[in-house]
Amino acid sequence: MSSSSFSSQKVVVIGGGVVGCTSALILAQRGYDVTLVARDLPGDQSQGWASPWAGANWHSFPGSSSQVHAWERIAYLKLKSLIPTGIVQTLPWVSYSKTADDNSYIDSAWYNDLIPDHKTLPKSELPNGYLTGSSLTTLSLAPATYLPWLLTQLNNLGVKIIRRKVESLEEAASFVAGNVHCVVNATGLGAASLGGVMDEECMPIRGQTVLARAPWLTYGLSVDGFKDGTFVYIIPRPDGNVILGGTMDVGSWDTSIHQETTERILKNAYESMPELSKGQGWEKIEIVSSNVGLRPARRGGARMELEVVKVKKGGPERKVGVVHAYGIGPAGYQSSWGMAENVGDL
Ligand code: FAD
Repeated sequence: MSSSSFSSQKVVVIGGGVVGCTSALILAQRGYDVTLVARDLPGDQSQGWASPWAGANWHSFPGSSSQVHAWERIAYLKLKSLIPTGIVQTLPWVSYSKTADDNSYIDSAWYNDLIPDHKTLPKSELPNGYLTGSSLTTLSLAPATYLPWLLTQLNNLGVKIIRRKVESLEEAASFVAGNVHCVVNATGLGAASLGGVMDEECMPIRGQTVLARAPWLTYGLSVDGFKDGTFVYIIPRPDGNVILGGTMDVGSWDTSIHQETTERILKNAYESMPELSKGQGWEKIEIVSSNVGLRPARRGGARMELEVVKVKKGGPERKVGVVHAYGIGPAGYQSSWGMAENVGDL
């Protein structure tokens, strides 16, 4: 979809999460006539989609692919440019490990040119109980304000927004008037049950978190290697809330909140950062909500490719391009602008 000669053509984006909305925005900016159709839209709190439940900060995961790195680079720069709007903030970040005694990978992390202050902390500077540590300056945002901001941008560009569950690619390609040039499939875990896709590689990675109030925090933190094998992350957001996590339950579709997990997250978070309740104990952390979200992962990695499908519904048989853009798992915000540019280029 890279040529400007296609610019008046119709594109249907299925999915109103951060990937679908950002893709629709890039396509509209490139001049396409865009309709976004989704079961869940910014503002909704359903657990049927991932985007409301994210951290959300930018922190590349060790072991991710070079394609993901390319998306994350673009997204980092775009998110950074949004700091003046107030919906994204700069966030000093520290990572500690209680068990890993080698973090030499820090010196060769792919994003060191992007974030030049990424560094290993000397052992002499580590608090008791930590074997290794590193720091960098990253970014964070609040989905509760960021997603509506994306929706406003779409409205400003004249993107048509339709709330509807789509049963198949064929349906998506045929329900707006006139010929649809392309469908973008940004359905996250919905790709497992969408007709014409039915991707068996889709899988959830369950994440339980606690949203708390602590506008006085000045940095974010992650600690791994607690005695029970768990980890904690603490992500302050621009709106004064902070997300405390978490879990990475691979393959779990369980959307219920486990009380013992909530308590464990609060205790680990307080032990790591007593400023959370100004030193008053874990019970005094001001809880806003306990949450569970399912990260839309995919065995083999995110799917980003163009497929040409034959469509019969609503007229003579014709060929329609489908750009698949789903399965980004735990990294949807930090990849979103890069994935969206990729969608536009395909
Ligand atoms: P989703 O947000 O799931 O959106 C899918 C969309 O498709 C929805 O609108 C849905 O209604 C729609 N849809 C599906 N099927 C259909 C259908 N048949 N018809 C119509 N519509 C359909 N990412 C980061 O980058 N940084 C973080 O710090 C971070 N932390 C996270 C912490 C937790 C606890 C969780 C759960 C996630 C976290 N993530 C983070 C991951 C991030 O939330 C996801 O990668 C991202 O939200 C995926 O966006 P998406 O648009 O692909 O999918």
